[in-house]
Amino acid sequence: MKLVFATHNLHKLKEIQKLVPKNIQLLSLTDIDCFEDIAETATTIQGNALLKASYIQEHYHFNVFADDTGLEVEALNNAPGVFSARYAGEHKNDADNVQLLLKNMDGKVNRNAKFRTVIALCLEGTTYTFEGIAKGTITQTPAGCNGFGYDPIFIPEGYTSTFAELSSDEKNRISHRGKAFEKLLHFLAQEKIIKE
Ligand code: IMP
Repeated sequence: MKLVFATHNLHKLKEIQKLVPKNIQLLSLTDIDCFEDIAETATTIQGNALLKASYIQEHYHFNVFADDTGLEVEALNNAPGVFSARYAGEHKNDADNVQLLLKNMDGKVNRNAKFRTVIALCLEGTTYTFEGIAKGTITQTPAGCNGFGYDPIFIPEGYTSTFAELSSDEKNRISHRGKAFEKLLHFLAQEKIIKE
């Protein structure tokens, strides 16, 4: 079965590719020649995941899933949340976002945060969503060079290293996206689309 993962993010593709059973052929947006900008204009993480997945199903007619992720920081009233990608501005990058977050956390004692991922799946005309959460804390300074995004400043609960210091297998086991994707795989197994 062909299944599109609606992303161009190579880090995400690598993470998910490792979890996909052999009878699913995972295709990226590049593989299906989709290079247009899909608007992420919803006000929730779930809404953006649904927007991306439905766009691909409508225009490219594949079974597809899309994820959207937000980092919710308690001391910042759950910001950046749905605005995580453009926290430091529309044309800023991961390093700028990390820098701004650390600046806004300056002096904050409560450093609790969580990553929330919602995966929206459009399968044979029906849409399903799956959520994964990873709780943790925000560091004082970045550490590690694996992963991407806010990984260098996020220490998952029960660990002493940041996501960026873990291998991708370790991160997958406990991450927001790993958990949401496990739920999706479990669902496909129940639907007899894949063997678990
Ligand atoms: P997106 O919704 O997946 O595009 O991600 C929104 C923002 O969260 C972007 O700034 C990403 O870099 C960041 N992000 C998404 N997933 C992760 C992750 O697993 N670790 C760290 N940052 C992430």
